[in-house]
Amino acid sequence: MKQHEWLQSRAASRTQLYIDGFWCAGEGGKRLPVVNPSTEETIAEVEAGNAADVDCAVRAAARAFRTWKKTSGAQRAVLLRAIARGVNDRREHLAALQSLNNGKPLDEARIDVSDVVATFEYYAGLAEQLDEIGESAVAIPSDEYRATIRREAAGVVALIVPWNFPMVTTAWKLAPALAAGCTVVLKPSEITPLPELELASIISDAGVPRGVLNVVTGTGPEVGAPLAAHPLVAKVSFTGSTAVGTQVMKTAADTIKGVSLELGGKSSIIVFADADLDLATDLVAGGAFFNAGQMCSATSRVLVERPIADALAARLADRVTRTVVGDPFKPGVQMGPLTSRAQYERVQRYIARGKADGARLVIEGEAPAGSGYFVKPTMFVDMPAESPLWREEIFGPVLCLRSFDTEDEAIGAANDTEFGLVATVVTRDAGRGRRVADELEAGVVWINAPQAIFPQTSWGGYKRSSIGRELGPFGLAAFQEIKQVLVPAGSLAGPERGHGA
Ligand code: NAD
Repeated sequence: MKQHEWLQSRAASRTQLYIDGFWCAGEGGKRLPVVNPSTEETIAEVEAGNAADVDCAVRAAARAFRTWKKTSGAQRAVLLRAIARGVNDRREHLAALQSLNNGKPLDEARIDVSDVVATFEYYAGLAEQLDEIGESAVAIPSDEYRATIRREAAGVVALIVPWNFPMVTTAWKLAPALAAGCTVVLKPSEITPLPELELASIISDAGVPRGVLNVVTGTGPEVGAPLAAHPLVAKVSFTGSTAVGTQVMKTAADTIKGVSLELGGKSSIIVFADADLDLATDLVAGGAFFNAGQMCSATSRVLVERPIADALAARLADRVTRTVVGDPFKPGVQMGPLTSRAQYERVQRYIARGKADGARLVIEGEAPAGSGYFVKPTMFVDMPAESPLWREEIFGPVLCLRSFDTEDEAIGAANDTEFGLVATVVTRDAGRGRRVADELEAGVVWINAPQAIFPQTSWGGYKRSSIGRELGPFGLAAFQEIKQVLVPAGSLAGPERGHGA
């Protein structure tokens, strides 16, 4: 059996809904095809859930919450570490499943799996600390009262995720939600549900009690919308497009739910004339072509200081034309297909528009012809600033360069967008690096660094890119409520409850 066939047979092993600890068919009796973007073949069919399935899953999560919220942080940490081990044990299978369903090269998929393991381990550590933090006394200007603050699990949470880094975006929500003591209904993207279904299987094997995690596959309107609207859901954590995020926020407003949103981006990389050109070339190419450019954090706007603009463009042109696009399972392939036909068509429209919009130079790489959603990596030099390619999120392997003359001009151009997710600065001058980072309206700034993300730090942006932050302690706080308890001093007798989350 060839690798692809073996994977396809294994991929199809988890295709049902996971509700209250059981794998089950949906109420509506409909199924959705899952496509391999490298071949355009259907590799599995998953349940197309509906509002009745969502209701069933939310009620299961609400029942499980009564006991799960009373577990100690240490108990939850044991399970989070077991999940991390389970993911690590099935590392190669998960990476291959991610490549098969999303189209990213196997080496990139392996990075995703490592990120998932690190995220569950990190939040296991934070869960353990919760027991120590427990309830903390607050200094108040009164001897009459004793005030304490404690953090509690928010309740049943809805996690809605996209298709570009399926397991990673899920882990960034799921690990802190479980660590906090929340129970979960997860809605994977209908385009890439297979990695999450496998993750749910690992979580079930790890011994997480029934109802704590529920997974409902299906479309946005049929599963995502009723989930965001459900009155028993306390909070929605959403990653996806700005248009759908706006809709989710409006829906959540009807029942005053908390929302965390991780949305689109249109980020810049600023290359100053003193930069190491080899490093700058690597950082620009990585920021634009990793995951075939399907990154909310893509630094697809390149702002380059005029004296080195032609030299950088020449190096990038060479990189673009030498990028190996093809089967994500083939060694040496640097870029796979886009993940869906819709995304392929959207990016092709942008490239056609870019050619019409009058860039000084257009450089195209190679991509396989025939079946598969393969797109040529493409670079536009001196793209007019009013072009949609300069202003809108493309979500594909398309890079636009513009030159600048002063630091202020570069900062102004980078901030001239409705988004504010990330930015990269390339310079040898420490003072300038810090100065520019201070001025950029972005949630993450990398200086001379690739887009490395550690779970201990933070993720999210300014303006229309985000509401809230994921990762770090912020990611945990997003799934917690705060409760203060005020008692007249000496008014209670008997032993007090011990600390515990
Ligand atoms: P999308 O908004 O189309 O879909 C995201 C999820 O929302 C999917 O699961 C979808 O089924 C669901 N959904 C669709 N309609 C819904 C509705 N009415 N109510 C509730 N849920 C609904 O996004 P996508 O195309 O899957 O992903 C690409 C987008 O995600 C890009 O804009 C990208 O920038 C963004 N993204 C952001 C981050 C970040 O961290 N900021 C990370 C990854 C992706």
